[in-house]
Amino acid sequence: MVTLDQLNTRKADVAIIGGGPAGATAATLLAGAGHSVVLFERETVPRFHVGESLIPATYWTLQRLGLIERLKQSAFPRKFSVQFVTETGKITSPFYFDEFRPHESSQTWQVWRDDFDQMLLENAEARGAQVVQQAHVSDVIFDGEHARGVRVRSAVGAAAEEPIEVQARVVVDASGQTTFLANRLKLKRPDPRLKKGTVWGYFRGAVRDSGRDEGATIILQTEGKRSWFWNIPLPDDMVSIGCTGSLKYMFPGAGSDAHSVWEREVARCPAIQHRLANATLEGPLRTTRDFSYHTTRSAGDGWVLVGDAQSFIDPVYSSGVYLALKSGEMAADAIAEGLALNDISGERLGSWKKKYDKGVGLFHKLVYAFYSPGFSFGSLLREHPECKDQLASILMGNVFEPGVETLFDIVGDAVPPRDDELVPAT
Ligand SMILES: Cc1cc2nc3c(=O)[nH]c(=O)nc-3n(C[C@H](O)[C@H](O)[C@H](O)COP(=O)(O)OP(=O)(O)OC[C@H]3O[C@@H](n4cnc5c(N)ncnc54)[C@H](O)[C@@H]3O)c2cc1C
Repeated sequence: MVTLDQLNTRKADVAIIGGGPAGATAATLLAGAGHSVVLFERETVPRFHVGESLIPATYWTLQRLGLIERLKQSAFPRKFSVQFVTETGKITSPFYFDEFRPHESSQTWQVWRDDFDQMLLENAEARGAQVVQQAHVSDVIFDGEHARGVRVRSAVGAAAEEPIEVQARVVVDASGQTTFLANRLKLKRPDPRLKKGTVWGYFRGAVRDSGRDEGATIILQTEGKRSWFWNIPLPDDMVSIGCTGSLKYMFPGAGSDAHSVWEREVARCPAIQHRLANATLEGPLRTTRDFSYHTTRSAGDGWVLVGDAQSFIDPVYSSGVYLALKSGEMAADAIAEGLALNDISGERLGSWKKKYDKGVGLFHKLVYAFYSPGFSFGSLLREHPECKDQLASILMGNVFEPGVETLFDIVGDAVPPRDDELVPAT
């Protein structure tokens, strides 16, 4: 990886903003297809990131990137299932992924994102992309409505330094929750029914399940279903534990510091108390909020949005990295086709979006169901055991397969309350 002063070009087929999974995937596939690619990441790699739990459908893009063997050899815990615990502490039977059309892809991983994202970036570099770290994209250069390149500054240099200009036939915005281009073009629309806040931390010595449950993601509801915890086992006896609820409930105002919110929510969840009984927090408790949105357009002439730079639903089903990989892959294919045809219109660069949105819509519906009063996986499966395959398909990420959507003929279109319709915490 190089820094901006070592960049040896001012011109590329593709310039990419951001070195998370979406940007790295697009960079790898486009460089692998013979295009000149330069990717700018503002942080020093490896950099911290939340989002440790993968879902099985990541397998296919990771396989195309040539990374499955490296993941198999890694120390990342293997994840065979996801499990839900009700507000009364009842442990529902896990969704073991290999119960549904078993395949090598039925098992996935829980990853430290700094290591995982670095691996993706090094792979992009090995395929021929130039990866520039500590490089902050400050502007996209437009000629009318057509993106023509980017302006970039060193993230560690003096603020007064002049940015350099890199001309590109296509600009890919993979800037994550920064939503760089969507902000500039005013395309971002928050989801008022998914206005959430999260507090989380990394613990050593928490209760770990054994055997093939050791790497399971566990989702635990708190009393009254006001919030839910994730429990994601990581290497070296570490576990990522976080709590998400409506923003107004989680952080009702001044005095809502991370520790008091954490203690309040742990007190409402005996199952997580049990897991944390002998655990120690390593590092700070962290918070994030208001992270669910979509964009009204995701491509224009010479530009395209991928990953969180385009949309983010909610962390509950761990779909974020998968959708970042998948959108990076679908956009890369559209860009390669557009470059070959000398057609880099918004229509060409966004040609994958309709199919993508249909699949993402299924995660979105299941997220809405999760936050709707009265919904529970346990009662759904008791009343409709025939749903289990479709439900598991969505939890595994197989949202682009035909027929999965029929789940919602039974579940219906649930609509959770808006944040401003909820009562604050007491
Ligand atoms: C609370 C929470 C929990 C989550 N848990 C999970 C989970 O368990 N599993 C899961 O799959 N997903 C999870 N996610 C979602 C997941 O983290 C994201 O969906 C995923 O990281 C998106 O990848 P990306 O490549 O689009 O963006 P990112 O991974 O965010 O990468 C974007 C990169 O762009 C860089 N950047 C931004 N602006 C600029 C700029 N101007 N110039 C240069 N570089 C720039 C950033 O530094 C960053 O490295 C979670 C999200 C939240 C909020």
